Amino acid sequence: MLSLRPEGLYCERGDFYIDPWRPVARAVITHAHADHARRGMGSYLAPFFSKNVLKLRLGKNIHLDTLAFNQKHYIRGMALSFHPAGHIPGSAQVRLEFQGEVWVVSGDYKVRPDGLSHAFEPLACHTFITESTFGLPLFQFPEQNTVFDQMEAWYQRCTLAGDLPVVLAYSLGKAQRVFLGLHKKGIPVVLHSSVWETHEALRKNGFGLPEAKRWYARTHSNELPVLIAPPGAARGGAFLPKRPHQLAAASGWMHLRGMRRRAGYEMGFVLSDHADWNGLLYAIHESKAEQVWITHGYSDALSRHLRENGLKAQTLETHFGQLDDENE
Ligand SMILES: [Zn+2]
Ligand SMILES: [Zn+2]
Repeated sequence: MLSLRPEGLYCERGDFYIDPWRPVARAVITHAHADHARRGMGSYLAPFFSKNVLKLRLGKNIHLDTLAFNQKHYIRGMALSFHPAGHIPGSAQVRLEFQGEVWVVSGDYKVRPDGLSHAFEPLACHTFITESTFGLPLFQFPEQNTVFDQMEAWYQRCTLAGDLPVVLAYSLGKAQRVFLGLHKKGIPVVLHSSVWETHEALRKNGFGLPEAKRWYARTHSNELPVLIAPPGAARGGAFLPKRPHQLAAASGWMHLRGMRRRAGYEMGFVLSDHADWNGLLYAIHESKAEQVWITHGYSDALSRHLRENGLKAQTLETHFGQLDDENE
C-alpha cells in the first residue's frame, strides 16, 4: 500500500505522500514538527487539531484540508483516517485500509498520556511503520510527575540564589507540557515569543491551555518566573536576560548525562515526547502487525530485536528526525 520514493513515503492508490521531504502535489501530514511538515506542497491533509500550528509554521495561505480524529476519508475505495499519536498537541497516526488490508504510519508518538495531547490510540494493522527515536533498551523514561517535582525543587533553588530559571524546551509540544506542569504547581511562567505564539495558536485550536505571559527582555520584575524558551534561541543568547540565570533543558536526550554536559546546561530534565524502549515495544505489540517498518532513530537496533523475536522487521531510510524536536 506504501512504498519509499525519493520524495517520501508514497501511496500509489491515493496518489499522495505521507510527511514528504520534497515538494509533491498532495501531502498527508502527521504533525507540525519541521521534519514532518515541510513547505512547498501543493496541498496538505492533516488532523484538525494541528490546523493552527501548521498555518503558523508553513504560512496561512497553504492549501490545507483537515479531518477530525477517526473520521474516514475515502480515496478510490481506500479509507484514510487520523488517530491520536500522543506525541504533541494535534499529532496523529495515519491509518489506511483497502479491501481488508490495514497499514498504519505512526508518525512520532509516545504512549503515556501527557495531560494535553490526545492520548495515543493503539491500532491493529497488518503493517506498522513505527518511529524509533529512542529505540535502545537503555532509554527508560521517568513519569512526568516525577520530572515536574524535580523542576519545582530546581525552581526553588534558583529563587533562593536569585537566579532566573530558564527551561529550554522545543516550542511545539515540549514547551506546553513544561508550562502546564509548572502552572499546575502554581509556579509563575513566562514564554519566549516563539513559544508564546505556538501557545496562542493551540489555544485558538481548542486546547485547554491557560493564558500565558510573553517574555520581553526588558521586562523587569522582582518576582522570579520560569522562562520557557526554545533551545535554538539559547544558542544565540540574545534573548537571555542580563540578570543571573540558570539554563536547564527538557528533553529525552537528557537521559544521557554527557549530552547535558556537552551542551553546557546547569540542569537536564528527562522529558520526552517520544516513546521510550518499552513504549515502542508496547505499540508494536498492540498493533499485532505481521510486518514492521522502522524509521527515525535507532532503527537497526529495534529491527534486530524484533527479528530475533520472530517478526518481519526492516529499517526504512527516511529523512525524519533530521530537524526533529528532540534533536533541536
Ligand atoms: Zn515530532
Ligand atoms: Zn519526527
